[in-house]
Amino acid sequence: MIKVESYLKGAWVTGTGAATALVDPTTEETIAEASSRGLDLHGALAWGREVGGRNLRALGFAQRGAVLKALSKAVHGAREALIECSIQSGGTTRSDAKFDVDGASGTLAYYAGLGAKLGDASFLVEPAEQLGQSARFFGQHVWTTRPGVALHVNAFNFPCWGLAEKLAVSLLAGVPAVSKPATSTCLLTYRMVQAMVGANALPEGALQLVCGSVGDLVEALGPSDCLAFTGSADTGAKLRAARSVVERSVRVNVEADSLNSAVLAPGIAPGDEVWRAFVRDVVKEMTQKSGQKCTATRRIFVPKEVAGEVEEALKEELSRIVVGHPGLDEVRMGPLATAQQLADFRSGLGKLVESGCKIVLGGPGAPTTVGVEAGKGFFAAPTLLRCDAPESAAPVHEHEVFGPSATLMPYETVEQAAALVARGQGGLVASVYGDDRELMKALVLGIAPFHGRVLSISGKIVDQAISPGLVLPSCVHGGPGRAGGGEELGGERGLRFYMQRTAIQGDRALLDKMFETPKA
Ligand code: NAP
Repeated sequence: MIKVESYLKGAWVTGTGAATALVDPTTEETIAEASSRGLDLHGALAWGREVGGRNLRALGFAQRGAVLKALSKAVHGAREALIECSIQSGGTTRSDAKFDVDGASGTLAYYAGLGAKLGDASFLVEPAEQLGQSARFFGQHVWTTRPGVALHVNAFNFPCWGLAEKLAVSLLAGVPAVSKPATSTCLLTYRMVQAMVGANALPEGALQLVCGSVGDLVEALGPSDCLAFTGSADTGAKLRAARSVVERSVRVNVEADSLNSAVLAPGIAPGDEVWRAFVRDVVKEMTQKSGQKCTATRRIFVPKEVAGEVEEALKEELSRIVVGHPGLDEVRMGPLATAQQLADFRSGLGKLVESGCKIVLGGPGAPTTVGVEAGKGFFAAPTLLRCDAPESAAPVHEHEVFGPSATLMPYETVEQAAALVARGQGGLVASVYGDDRELMKALVLGIAPFHGRVLSISGKIVDQAISPGLVLPSCVHGGPGRAGGGEELGGERGLRFYMQRTAIQGDRALLDKMFETPKA
């Protein structure tokens, strides 16, 4: 039995007492256990703040970027082992495992490159503002590293990328991290952090790992610290209400649920390349990582007159998805990560059906699987629902079913489509497919205020566009409202969560010297 360790104050340690069993979701065998009981988590927080903070603030962006580059190489070097671990501990297919592992090394590499570009400086400056009557008295907004520690709390579905995308930004900004993966899938995160630590590139105190509960650590955060959370809206709401957040203004970033939409604009004929891209992306977003992606498509909006044809096209493609042992080449979809996720998936479908949605493919029952012992594993079937009265079925816009399912809904006008998308109350990403510029503009502008990202796919870019679920480090990730109201990544933008903006007011010549600002 593997005992998953935490990495605290520069040493690998295991908790005591009852541990949480970590289960292979394909076989239901227990493969590891994790516990953080009895570990000095408060001491680790203070040590990270002091030692890690001091070490990171002594480096400029380019040097921190070099650290990230070494971490990226370490993750890439451990790629095969991490992919194998992901298949076993997370039930991901090889392709889904790569999405997580390569996402981690790629994001670290991106921020390494940004560090090199920012050079030896350790602060960021904004364009200066003239304050006095003459050009002598000026205001300069400057971003400096906050002298705190970042507590990173992650969801179960991206054990590698989840840690890496937060760490890349935080380290480049100069803030040490205490990172906590979700317990159910922390074996993979543990393996990745072992590889990172083994690279001997991390400044002492820059990264600590807690596998298991963080107890009351959120309450121990101080005014210069921050909390970056990814997970369910319920946990996010609980953490936001922590006394440390309310009373000490601990900075919080929340990445939570999202009922992401894919919209087919009017005027796209069946078989057209934009139509094919739409069907391809919806199927991918419903089934990649067995639908356990925060950015997965949950709601599909299509013009009323083509709803029947879209339904048939999606059913045809989804029926081809082979479900089973994620280690087999022919399998396109593995199990859900835990028994609880499967139970939630089934009850979520129940809620949608009760509200008037009709299951047109799949459903809550066990799907046919290949390469798996009968009756074993947390498998869900690719499930398509249809809702012909989207205005009145509230749960379809409010309840995230975190598995391989989405609901197809017809609309009559683009204004109605945008209004229906907005019923999701804030999302991470929406994708819009069409060629008519005016209709696309109406959809994109109607949807944008409710989202962190909108992907607009037209015929000219179908062959090079990403699918909507792919989070790129150069663009912001996050969304308003239900999605948590947070923002991560986005290149240099992401650093600001970990830095303090200060308006420095004074003699322009002196400010220019201090911050080497370019003259306007
Ligand atoms: P979850 O149950 O809310 O757990 C998320 C994390 O919070 C886990 O690490 C969990 O630890 C921890 N946690 C729970 N209670 C806590 C507390 N009182 N104090 C500190 N930490 C606490 O969510 P999940 O089931 O792992 O993730 C699924 C959800 O995440 C979905 O709703 C999905 O949409 C969302 N998600 C969002 C994004 C995004 O970027 N917006 C990305 C991925 C997932 P334990 O595991 O030890 O309980």
